[in-house]
Amino acid sequence: MKLILRGHHLLCLQGFQGYGYDKSFVENMTEINEIRKSENTLISLTNAPDDICKACPNLKDGLCENQLQNERIKSMDDEVLSKLNPTKEYNALDLFNKTETIFNSKESVDKICSECMWHKECLFYQNL
Ligand code: SF4
Repeated sequence: MKLILRGHHLLCLQGFQGYGYDKSFVENMTEINEIRKSENTLISLTNAPDDICKACPNLKDGLCENQLQNERIKSMDDEVLSKLNPTKEYNALDLFNKTETIFNSKESVDKICSECMWHKECLFYQNL
């Protein structure tokens, strides 16, 4: 199985506990969160709409909400991608292990998570 994931979603998936924008978003995110835990899954990285965005009600004309918000989201992705190799196709388990070691403190995710509306529901952020 192959997944395409935007950079900041590598963090969101680690904190996901069933909250989301609507029912189909949550169902899709739940499924992707299972797929990414398989050792047979390969992941390509992006800073554009991905396999999570495709079921999101905020995705409009290929943008996350609007131009301004889309730029904010892309800069969160770019911050994560700057610590990885965005041209590489990763084994899912290796990628999440690597991500966990890089983003391992509140300081390390400051530019990515500090303005996120899901702070209180995100186990990844809460456990840092
Ligand atoms: S469209 Fe925006 S809010 Fe929706 S999943 Fe993608 S990045 Fe998140």
